[in-house]
Amino acid sequence: MAKLLEGKPLAEKIKEEIKAQIQALGIKPVLASVLVGENAGAEAYVKSQSKAAENLGIVYQFHKLDAATTEVALIEFIKKLNSDKNVNGIIIQMPLPAQIDYKKISQFISAEKDVEGMHPANIGKIVFGKAKILPCTPAAVMELLNSTGVDLYGKEVVIVGHSEIVGKPLALLLLEKFATVTVAHIGTSKAGKLEEHIKKAEVLIVAVGKAGLIKGDLVKEGAIVIDVGINRVDGKIVGDVEFEAAEKKASYITPVPGGVGPLTVTMLMRNLVEAAKLQK
Ligand code: NAD
Repeated sequence: MAKLLEGKPLAEKIKEEIKAQIQALGIKPVLASVLVGENAGAEAYVKSQSKAAENLGIVYQFHKLDAATTEVALIEFIKKLNSDKNVNGIIIQMPLPAQIDYKKISQFISAEKDVEGMHPANIGKIVFGKAKILPCTPAAVMELLNSTGVDLYGKEVVIVGHSEIVGKPLALLLLEKFATVTVAHIGTSKAGKLEEHIKKAEVLIVAVGKAGLIKGDLVKEGAIVIDVGINRVDGKIVGDVEFEAAEKKASYITPVPGGVGPLTVTMLMRNLVEAAKLQK
């Protein structure tokens, strides 16, 4: 039976480190959060981010813009935050209204204030193993893996999902650890080859967003399983991996909810402190 890899206790530990770093900084870092329009999901994220910030001694500066805000106006707003010396980090809440293209506007956040770690300059630094600000979800996955104490050197790691926010940057972070990394995706499934990759994975990381995609009995005996997926099924949140069957074969497995999720907001706050340090 697998050991549970829970995000909360790990997040608590990292929060203590963040608090110590904030003390050493000698300032209260400021996170500017921008929400455009009305969205219940985004409001919930804002609430949890502001609570996490407050607990750490971080100032959460919330800006709510009108739903009709244009791309140009939002870019102007971002530029103002970029040049505001009191602001250490900027986060644009998702989803954005249809008239705004996130990929386009996110490039205007200065790389030094990009607490989500998605600016091309920050993503690029991962290739060279020099990134100080990491995309939050891949960073959370790396923390969970690190907490197992298992050396990733030479391990067969299979990531299912090749998105820009999870799979692609995560593959680079794992290469830094000398893991042998396979990135599977929709093309792998369509070619009928997903199963063979799952079966060989000593570390399996799944970030797709399809409940039950990974049949638990395919998991390799003793594998570490990190389920990033979030799906709502019959009013319950579940991951992409069939938990009960996978738990019987894995050595470690993340619960959903309670695995990766609780760590991501902590990674955001860690990035903010890192950004504040770089600006100093
Ligand atoms: P995305 O839609 O951008 O990417 C999905 C990926 O899954 C793509 O690479 C696609 O090719 C792949 N895919 C789709 N169907 C597939 C199939 N049948 N077989 C194999 N691969 C398939 O998604 P995303 O933004 O990376 O998010 C993925 C999941 O992770 C979602 O459930 C999302 O909610 C969750 N997520 C969780 C956190 C967290 O904090 N826990 C953070 C980010 C995303």
